[in-house]
Amino acid sequence: MNYDAGKCDIAVIGAGHAGIEAALAAARMGLDTVIFTINLDTCGNMPCNPAIGGTGKGHLVRELDALGGEMGVAADKSCIQYRMLNRGKGPAVHSLRAQADRRKYQGIMKHTLELQNNLRVKQAEIVEIGVEDGAVSFVRTHTGATYSCKAAVICTGTYLKGRVIIGDVLIQSGPDGVAASVPLSACLEKLGLSIRRFKTGTPPRINRKTVDFSKMEIQPGDEHIVPFSFRTTEIPQNRADCYLTYTNERTHEIIRANLHRSPLYSGVIEGVGPRYCPSIEDKVVRFADKPRHQLFVEPMGLDTEELYIQGFSSSLPEEVQLEMLHTLPGLERAEMTRPAYAIEYDCVDPTELYATLETKKISGLYGAGQFNGSSGYEEAAAQGFIAGVNAALKIKGEEPLILKRSDGYIGTLIDDLVTKGTNEPYRMMTSRSEYRLLHRQDNADIRLSHLGLRIGLVPEGQHAAVLEKYAAVDRETQRLESTFLPPSDELCEMLIKKETAAPISGISLATLLRRPQIEYADLTPFDSNRPELPAAVTEQVEIKLKYAGYIDRQLRQVKEFGKMEGRKLPKDIDYDAVIGLRLEARQKLSKIRPENFGQASRISGVSPADVAALMVFVENRGEKEAVRE
Ligand SMILES: Cc1cc2nc3c(=O)[nH]c(=O)nc-3n(C[C@H](O)[C@H](O)[C@H](O)COP(=O)(O)OP(=O)(O)OC[C@H]3O[C@@H](n4cnc5c(N)ncnc54)[C@H](O)[C@@H]3O)c2cc1C
Repeated sequence: MNYDAGKCDIAVIGAGHAGIEAALAAARMGLDTVIFTINLDTCGNMPCNPAIGGTGKGHLVRELDALGGEMGVAADKSCIQYRMLNRGKGPAVHSLRAQADRRKYQGIMKHTLELQNNLRVKQAEIVEIGVEDGAVSFVRTHTGATYSCKAAVICTGTYLKGRVIIGDVLIQSGPDGVAASVPLSACLEKLGLSIRRFKTGTPPRINRKTVDFSKMEIQPGDEHIVPFSFRTTEIPQNRADCYLTYTNERTHEIIRANLHRSPLYSGVIEGVGPRYCPSIEDKVVRFADKPRHQLFVEPMGLDTEELYIQGFSSSLPEEVQLEMLHTLPGLERAEMTRPAYAIEYDCVDPTELYATLETKKISGLYGAGQFNGSSGYEEAAAQGFIAGVNAALKIKGEEPLILKRSDGYIGTLIDDLVTKGTNEPYRMMTSRSEYRLLHRQDNADIRLSHLGLRIGLVPEGQHAAVLEKYAAVDRETQRLESTFLPPSDELCEMLIKKETAAPISGISLATLLRRPQIEYADLTPFDSNRPELPAAVTEQVEIKLKYAGYIDRQLRQVKEFGKMEGRKLPKDIDYDAVIGLRLEARQKLSKIRPENFGQASRISGVSPADVAALMVFVENRGEKEAVRE
């Protein structure tokens, strides 16, 4: 029996990584918010890799942190091993990744939600979203509780009509044995949203006491730890090790002999899987000539003996998984605590969304996270934040927060999803950003914290500290430019050791630091006036001096990019009336309805000639309207 459970400004459906950020942002912006989840004991659950960050993903966490999001703060309170990936390459691809204590992370996030003002936390499944005159009006739970609301943010992850697959065993379920969400999917289709079917997969978990670590390579954490959050003052410690082992020919033989029993190859799985997160059977088929595949054995937390085998996800039958597992060095006697499985779920076609993550068809209805076709905790959290903020700004009657791809990875993520759509679960990688030297994870604070200040999620003091940090960077750069060293035996000796030429006349410290062989610390003995500066400042000074040319070039590209983004497209364009548009472009433009010429030019199937035809059309139309006026 339905009953009136009262009202709220914003209803957030889901308390995963997207829902948590959406709910906290909205509540912290002063909106009366309710967050719903099927099982309160799985808030912020990591149903797969117990890790935060990674290539491109670490960038999202730091950008979210700079804007005032929560993931980085919670990660630094719960992570047990930190590694900076790609440290041997340039700063653009340095990517922070940390092993999380999964239960601790969940506990911190759930408690943060419970403590948040303006926020109510409910264990309930939303089975219906009500719409009146094209706008969201209520959400209803499985017990009939009806909450009227001004906006709703759908963050349902991998639960919509969730189906777990292990060989020929099919179970209607969300991840980790939590119930799937079934009625809501049909409701969303009835509301006119185009729903897709995706899939992802996870490896088995094993019990540490049955592992022989002497046969594996240890993977310790970094000596020098860089935390996720710019707000973290106490540097976290490494408290666990990971291990490396490999598949072998015997493993691959078992897989090949059982492919006919893999739902992937037998056609049982309809959903499209993530290309960049292939199952082990996928890898063995796609890279048949590779003699072995590396696997990371990772702790699920400090208070559990469960280990996660990264790179070994599968949907093969359980007994085959056991056979495969026992071929791995160190895991010959491993006891499986949870089998690997694939999961299929419904999600929305993200081209149904504006860059604010509001649906185009229903005012006040937003989507975020895996529901939008992405995969990954970090991708979900970033979208949840943007959706929650924009739901709040719309209710407050303020300008939306739209991040362009030239603003960073969050802008790139959202632009890719809402402009190009995705045919498989989309995951972030540094190669997706054309401005990655500008969008490093180390400078997310100066790039975005002013936006967090504007929406009230970054305190004045925090933003002022960011400005002071970069003022210190400018002062130190200036000082290095204007401090000259005369040639000396000591300087020549150091430079020759570093295999770089010794100067024949005076040379500035900045010129020396521009050399790839020289680090800021190398100049200390020659720099008697050096001020005491934090590493975060000197790191920026080095990057600024060493990459100035490349950075200037990318800044010019961003300026060019801004010209097309700034040329708005009328909202009411009839693309069928545009002469010279090819049919595919006409269809795509009518479906996606880009906001500007830049976005139009990125839609797959829209050529430069189509954009040119569109420009002529808009100019002519503008002239006609000008004449009419
Ligand atoms: C088996 C598996 C393997 C994965 N592998 C990887 C991987 O290797 N790497 C990676 O980065 N990501 C992986 N993921 C994806 C990762 O879990 C998600 O990207 C991430 O959790 C998405 O966050 P989210 O907030 O969108 O959804 P989720 O974290 O799934 O949270 C969804 C939330 O919505 C709630 N919910 C759903 N429907 C309703 C409803 N009707 N009413 C109320 N509440 C509802 C659920 O209770 C849950 O709280 C995997 C996920 C699974 C399940």
